[in-house]
Amino acid sequence: MLRNPVWCYTSGWCSAMFAEGDLAVISIKKLTSMKVKSSKKSRSDLANSLSAHLKSFGEKYEDIVICPTCLGEFSVKADQEKFSAGHILPEVAGGQEWTFICRSCNSRFGEKQDKWFGEYLHILNIPTGTFLDAKTKNKYISINGEVVRGDISVRDDGSVEVFVPIDRNPPGKVKSIPKGPKLELSFKPVLIDHENEIEIGYITAAYLIWFHEIGYNWVFQSSLDVVRKQILECDRSLNGAKVIDLDFDKSPVEGVGAVLQSDTLYPCCVVVDKLVVIGKQE
Ligand SMILES: [Zn+2]
Repeated sequence: MLRNPVWCYTSGWCSAMFAEGDLAVISIKKLTSMKVKSSKKSRSDLANSLSAHLKSFGEKYEDIVICPTCLGEFSVKADQEKFSAGHILPEVAGGQEWTFICRSCNSRFGEKQDKWFGEYLHILNIPTGTFLDAKTKNKYISINGEVVRGDISVRDDGSVEVFVPIDRNPPGKVKSIPKGPKLELSFKPVLIDHENEIEIGYITAAYLIWFHEIGYNWVFQSSLDVVRKQILECDRSLNGAKVIDLDFDKSPVEGVGAVLQSDTLYPCCVVVDKLVVIGKQE
């Protein structure tokens, strides 16, 4: 775990040094915030500008655009229904920057990493946010040892409300909750079961921020195959990129850069409150 990096700014660039371990952040290029409101780019605008960039890689890419995550090739004109503009950071967390992505990848991510990463960032955006503020609520609560269907939420004044509707529980269930001088509540926050998706959400965002910065020069690196596999299969156990806690609520800079670990240079990206180190690591 890396703690308390020292950040230094020099004309838009930022360097950080870590006191622990052998991982050192060499430099981070400060990005325009992913949350600054930008005008939405249409999928055809994104496809056209990427297609022009892709042409610099050879004639075979004439009027072609490639999905950055699955590497599927699409005709800019004939396949418009097959690609879309997707948010780099989930919309629920205020993400305003767009990327070109194929429709299939966009909907695949929407159901997995984007959903849970978005919920996590939503909580992070609330100054007093806790797991109870998650949009997807846990359905079961144990009250004095009896498990019932119900909701737990935090009211505006900070008090906790427990709501156990009789009609959402089997007959007699609510009445069977043991009563007494003590009230013991326990529940498992829904997000706990989705740590994998949240982590892959950070990795997907970092990968797409790099794509946003340097386009296909990024995507065409075969060393990133394992990262793409990790993103597409939504499986953090694959040795692609890893997510490191920066130990503060929000980092002072958001951007792409490089880290040095065991004499190897890895691309990295600061995403909200985490450092994502990209590439297969020893
Ligand atoms: Zn795709």
